[in-house]
Amino acid sequence: MHCPFCSADDTKVIDSRLVAEGDQVRRRRECLSCRERFTTYEVAELLMPRIIKQDGTREPFDENKLRAGLLRALEKRPVSVEDIESALNQIKHALQATGEREIPSRLLGEKVMEKLRSLDEVAYVRFASVYRQFQDISEFRDEIERLERNPRGAD
Ligand SMILES: [Zn+2]
Repeated sequence: MHCPFCSADDTKVIDSRLVAEGDQVRRRRECLSCRERFTTYEVAELLMPRIIKQDGTREPFDENKLRAGLLRALEKRPVSVEDIESALNQIKHALQATGEREIPSRLLGEKVMEKLRSLDEVAYVRFASVYRQFQDISEFRDEIERLERNPRGAD
């Protein structure tokens, strides 16, 4: 690939390793002209199902939007970027595993909540309070109380 610094054609791979539990290849490259080094990430491009929104309209699956949602829920929480990327990949795999070409946005929300719940309970409640549209406020309060009674790791 072209060097992002000088646009020379030839760059060489000086290091290559698996990251994100083997779902990505991280390559360190060096430009043969200017000697600058840069990093590329290679991921398999798999077809994601389209998302059916609550109003019935469809939209393409948006990985960046999902990542932004996860990051917002996990803001200032003790969870590493690696773990977040890994959760993102697991959610994508789960959607692909349905074998459906279109899936309801609610299903995506459920997968995200499932994953957040195992990563960080505070992030889970933050996300759930926004995305799950709790039936009523008491349901939300029940969830908070459940967490207070039985915080992760304390049982
Ligand atoms: Zn260069």
